[in-house]
Amino acid sequence: MMITESKDMLVKKVNGRPAFEIYNKYLNIKSDDQFFLNVLGYSFLVNRQGEYQSRVPISVNNEGAIQFIADIREGETFRIGYADPVTMIHNAHDVHQKMRCFQPQAICLFSCGSRHTLLNDDIDLETEPFQKIAPTFGFYTYGEYSGTMMNLKSLNSTLVIAGFREGGKSHNGCYDKKSNTIEKNEEDDSLILYRDSRAVARLIHFIEVITEEYEELNRQLRLISITDNLTGLFNRGKLDKVIQKEIARALDRDICFSIVIADIDNFKSINDVYGHLAGDAVLVEIGRLFLSVFERESDVIGRWGGEEYLVVLPETSIQKAYRKTEELRNKIEKHIFNGNLRVTCSFGISTYKRGDTVNDLIWRADKALYDAKGSGKNKVIQE
Ligand code: GH3
Ligand code: MG
Ligand code: MG
Repeated sequence: MMITESKDMLVKKVNGRPAFEIYNKYLNIKSDDQFFLNVLGYSFLVNRQGEYQSRVPISVNNEGAIQFIADIREGETFRIGYADPVTMIHNAHDVHQKMRCFQPQAICLFSCGSRHTLLNDDIDLETEPFQKIAPTFGFYTYGEYSGTMMNLKSLNSTLVIAGFREGGKSHNGCYDKKSNTIEKNEEDDSLILYRDSRAVARLIHFIEVITEEYEELNRQLRLISITDNLTGLFNRGKLDKVIQKEIARALDRDICFSIVIADIDNFKSINDVYGHLAGDAVLVEIGRLFLSVFERESDVIGRWGGEEYLVVLPETSIQKAYRKTEELRNKIEKHIFNGNLRVTCSFGISTYKRGDTVNDLIWRADKALYDAKGSGKNKVIQE
């Protein structure tokens, strides 16, 4: 989801709707005095350069805007996270092992109040093992910090553990080799959760599996919706969107791009003489030849209609587009198709001019293609 309107840690709109609606719709949470307690386990996970950071809401106002206690910005994408007690405690357990190896003389635990509220009785499973290593002190708090001097991030929902000792480090950063290789001991027994947490953990596992399946189906659907099912190239809908995007990019950055429209010559007679299936095979094979010539990752190749193709060539001048298209025309002309068939193609090229709409650009490429057909076919004509 995307934060579409926010100001000073107050998120007003998500996907253009009042922010609170997502809690109400997906989690049946009401905007009452229990709001904070109810949303604690379901914070926003904000995506910052591929890394998720938790943001816990604290209240909701009459307009359905949600107040946060750490920075959260308009335009950011996020997902609703859910607390998994098993993962939380296992992660604390890993840190515990490292801390034991470090052999501190004192430990500071600095934990988020949301962990306390979420884990309830299980909270001791997180913190108690540290007390067996060294005297501990610390407190529960609203906001935590992470990072180096140059890159300090404010976080929510985290457990920060600082170990202190005097003296230097050994070469592997560990003071006690024996405790570095702890395997099964009494710590593992402490990972047995209370019944409530076990039930929550199962539900969370269930949600994770379902979500993964759903996201995979979504990926497949998205792919189907932009693919031509005969050739496997992009379809017309996708090509339209790509051209629109290229126009916006060209306007923004003052760069050019070109498009190529191709039409197979005398294709009807291939169908008539060899049958529709042979025609289909030619359409697929020509698609492959397009892919072999326009091989930059940024080139977008699609089927525009029956026996027509369209290629979008970002950051490409008309001269360069012409050279590549001529290479393709030549390759198709020389190619021997299944059943010893020979096929040729005609091409029209246009390049973006400031102020062009999608239709202007296509109209000029079409006109060039028409000229190629009119002057004997098997030709490349640029506008
Ligand atoms: P020109 O050189 O002027 O382009 O002549 P043409 O015969 O290629 O063009 P025309 O528009 O007369 O015929 C196009 C043919 O393409 C007619 C149609 O049946 C065929 N066609 C369109 N889509 C498909 C398809 O998916 N599979 C097959 N096999 N044929 C198709
Ligand atoms: Mg045609
Ligand atoms: Mg044709």
